[in-house]
Amino acid sequence: MIVTRQKSFEDILKQVDKGPAFLIGCSECATLCHTGGEEEIIQMKMNLEQKKIIVTGWIVLDPACHLQNNKRLLKTHHDELLQAKKIIVFACGNGIQTVRELAQDADVITGTETLFLGEIKHTNEFEKRCIQCGECVVDNYSGLCPVSRCPKSMLNGPCGGAKNGCCEVDEELECIWDLVYKQLKSKGRLAQLKTIQKPKDWQKATQTRRIVNHDRSQQP
Ligand code: SF4
Ligand code: SF4
Repeated sequence: MIVTRQKSFEDILKQVDKGPAFLIGCSECATLCHTGGEEEIIQMKMNLEQKKIIVTGWIVLDPACHLQNNKRLLKTHHDELLQAKKIIVFACGNGIQTVRELAQDADVITGTETLFLGEIKHTNEFEKRCIQCGECVVDNYSGLCPVSRCPKSMLNGPCGGAKNGCCEVDEELECIWDLVYKQLKSKGRLAQLKTIQKPKDWQKATQTRRIVNHDRSQQP
């Protein structure tokens, strides 16, 4: 899931200026994160109206990153969108940019920060699992990812700063290398760590790719 955090209301207000605004949420990740579901959109509408900002309408897209669905769903809000000077999107950075492709004169602004791909631990509790590096190496580490889960992205062993299994950068984090070591030890595969991993090739990171085609018939 793509984990997002809602921006502070003060930050949103600065971008909204005098409005009027149209609000857009997302039925999937942002709903699960409680950053852009129906409940949060309705609450945001009330908060903005208390500040005398006109909200011309709102919708929760299904999901915000689906261009063709968005075209169909936003058609039913055509007039409300035309009246808006600002469209505030409460979704991940992908959803925001998908909406922006369809916006006409209004500014599209973000109501959220996009953080990482994460696991839902408990309600409203998410843990980073992946930063989409484009060259997945978790097989070397018993299925655990030091690229995203170690603040220093250490690939060849721990930094040495961990205390009682907790990370020296943030003691609320478990040291991922502690887990990697324990996992490999329990499987009798510690020797695997003797292979020195080369630095990651960040050119492979998805950030550098503009289009990924999943149509197998077009793959070599
Ligand atoms: S190695 Fe890269 S792709 Fe694999 S989980 Fe970690 S960050 Fe994600
Ligand atoms: S203590 Fe562990 S998780 Fe934290 S930076 Fe060092 S190796 Fe990475």
